[in-house]
Amino acid sequence: MSERIGVYPGSFDPVTNGHLDIIKRGMEIFDHLYVVIPNNIQKKTFFTIQERIDLIKKAILDDPNIDDSRIDVVSTELLTVEFAESVGAYAMLRGLRMVSDFEYEMQLFTTNKIINKKIETIFIMSSHEVSYISSSTVKEIALFGGDISSFVPEVVQKAVADKLIKK
Ligand code: ADP
Repeated sequence: MSERIGVYPGSFDPVTNGHLDIIKRGMEIFDHLYVVIPNNIQKKTFFTIQERIDLIKKAILDDPNIDDSRIDVVSTELLTVEFAESVGAYAMLRGLRMVSDFEYEMQLFTTNKIINKKIETIFIMSSHEVSYISSSTVKEIALFGGDISSFVPEVVQKAVADKLIKK
């Protein structure tokens, strides 16, 4: 049987314990997972693409529950559905937290289906322990000097602190 390939697209600015929960559980569904950051120059981000990729890679390596040999972390200039098709993906993976995520995800899902109807999207509901975590709240808490250790892996905690010193 051929490998079942998944694509998990996102901004990951920065990667949080919520994203890692989706990656971990996504690995139960897919044999191989591409974590993909679209190279969207219009979007102003806290970390550069390369920094975000490196943080995801380090967080995955540090997590004993994630098999990093089955994961690639990359950026793409393509639309994510087109990237998914180019790597022979079976589906894209997205996480759902609150009802508030639903409307945006539904719109994205429909748009992606119109662009490429062969690529399915699979949604995983976030685990309740991490369902309140978002990259934007993490950045906001850190900017106000708060403790983000419950929301992100250690490498991210350090990287956010370093970045704030440099800013
Ligand atoms: P995007 O800008 O594409 O929404 P994000 O990095 O914010 O990028 O999110 C990528 C995906 O991860 C989205 O599907 C989002 O809903 C999901 N996600 C983010 N945080 C969590 C979390 N705490 N629990 C579950 N899914 C999450």
